[in-house]
Amino acid sequence: MSKKALPQAKTIKVGGHVYNVVETDLPPKEDGRTLLGLHDCKNNTIFVDKDMVHSRKVETFMHELIHVIYTNAGANHDEGAIDALSNGLLQLGVADYLWKRVK
Ligand SMILES: [Zn+2]
Repeated sequence: MSKKALPQAKTIKVGGHVYNVVETDLPPKEDGRTLLGLHDCKNNTIFVDKDMVHSRKVETFMHELIHVIYTNAGANHDEGAIDALSNGLLQLGVADYLWKRVK
């Protein structure tokens, strides 16, 4: 996705980098599965599908944020572990706290 296609960009600083957080329509994955979110480290951007209930949107944002944290550290990461962390942090209110900090 190009930098020009960033509607309603908000930002959050992660690991010394300012990331854009964009709610948008995301196309399905190549295998046809639904894509809820993704991050683009070259352009410091987290995309979250805009057509989700609030809790799912915030959990997806948390999921992508954890990807960013691991990526910034150059660490290997596992989808299942990130799903567990993002859901746990949603339950603890951390995901909502961070979502509200995005400005
Ligand atoms: Zn993921």
